[in-house]
Amino acid sequence: MSAHYDFVIIGNSAAGLQALRTLRRHDRKSSIAIIDREDCPAYSRVLTPYYIGGQIPREGLDIVQHSFYSKLSATTLFGQAVVALDPDNHSLKLADGSLVTFGKLLLATGAEARTLSVTSDRSCVLRHLADADKLAELLKEAKSVTAIGAGLVSLPLLSHAPEPMEKHLVIGSDRVFSRVVDAEAAEIIEAQLESRGLKIHKRDDIAEIHEGRQLELQLNSGQRLNSDLLVIGKGVTPNTRLAVDAGLEVAEGVVIDDFCRSSHPDIYAAGDTAEGKDFTSGEKTIQGNWMTAVEQGENAALNMLGRGCAYQGSLKNNITEIFGLEVATIGHYQDSEASQVVSSWNKVTGRFRKVFLDEKHRVIGATMIGETNDSGLYYQLVSTRSTFPGRELLNGTANYAQTKLRLA
Ligand SMILES: Cc1cc2nc3c(=O)[nH]c(=O)nc-3n(C[C@H](O)[C@H](O)[C@H](O)COP(=O)(O)OP(=O)(O)OC[C@H]3O[C@@H](n4cnc5c(N)ncnc54)[C@H](O)[C@@H]3O)c2cc1C
Repeated sequence: MSAHYDFVIIGNSAAGLQALRTLRRHDRKSSIAIIDREDCPAYSRVLTPYYIGGQIPREGLDIVQHSFYSKLSATTLFGQAVVALDPDNHSLKLADGSLVTFGKLLLATGAEARTLSVTSDRSCVLRHLADADKLAELLKEAKSVTAIGAGLVSLPLLSHAPEPMEKHLVIGSDRVFSRVVDAEAAEIIEAQLESRGLKIHKRDDIAEIHEGRQLELQLNSGQRLNSDLLVIGKGVTPNTRLAVDAGLEVAEGVVIDDFCRSSHPDIYAAGDTAEGKDFTSGEKTIQGNWMTAVEQGENAALNMLGRGCAYQGSLKNNITEIFGLEVATIGHYQDSEASQVVSSWNKVTGRFRKVFLDEKHRVIGATMIGETNDSGLYYQLVSTRSTFPGRELLNGTANYAQTKLRLA
């Protein structure tokens, strides 16, 4: 069995969904199919920790309904995995043996969570809805939870797990969020996490898991933790198998040019599977964030339509709320990456701001802790390569407006 579509998208998440929206916004006539091995409309992975912790219902994760796809006249091949890509014949093979041919293809296949060499029935990664369902079930009876890895999976999950609960975090590095904040910011965040009862075990790893009434986790340091479940948040690996087997250029991710095009002229890639230009450094990178996936999905779609739109590059950009603390980071986050650093820290209000400037005094990054309502402003400054308007900026949006007036 074989079917042909002008545009085919593999991956029904941040990148794929935005590509679908963009294709239809500009082209009502072409045929479009969107394929995903998960059998449901697109949902938010970012919100899954809230669902697992019982703070939002399953429907709260939905980004769109089934009817969304039919309204856009898109064919959905959900619950179907693509197992092979043949670029020369513009064709895909699905797990059930059927063939799909395409005019242009978008790889929006995202990434998979890395696991540990030691696992248990009571341990789980968190990437897909099935993982979230399993963790929600395990958490129902749990009195203690341990997470390994200090990124955007472990910390939100621990944060939103119901109370009372004994919570442990095991991290290989010397600080939390080591890939998005510097040591000074991490110290402030850790103080808040510890004040809310989280026990942090640094420079450690899980060597063995022993099954019993509880899991007995043997750490490299020799310490033992007893826990009802283990959440594994050890980062992700891009889903590049199709691209590798098809002979496309792949580094860590599928390498894309400024038009989100792979090394094949009719195959594009976007999101967590794609390795494209970073806005501030110009280097190829995988940002692994929702906003980049959306932006690249949109850009890829415009170029699949032949619009010739160059993408300016992706930004490191994370906003999260953990243990009652808002944390936002945009662009660069380390003193060593900047010519100048301007910061302020109000211990009473808990408001921390650190802004990173280049040699021309332009804003190339910002870290915000406390309320983060002004994160959009910093995003604007970084993404428009604006010069730093002055220290008043650190005090809040209202004061910044006055600064602008004075500067004008
Ligand atoms: C718990 C959690 C919290 C997060 N928190 C944040 C956050 O606070 N902020 C932030 O910016 N980002 C966050 N992220 C990351 C964010 O979710 C990702 O960057 C984003 O989902 C990437 O979107 P994507 O479309 O590239 O890929 P994905 O969301 O990974 O989707 C890829 C899709 O492709 C499908 N697929 C893959 N291979 C095939 C195949 N061969 N055949 C068919 N279908 C296939 C998969 O089933 C999947 O549905 C978080 C992620 C998780 C898991």
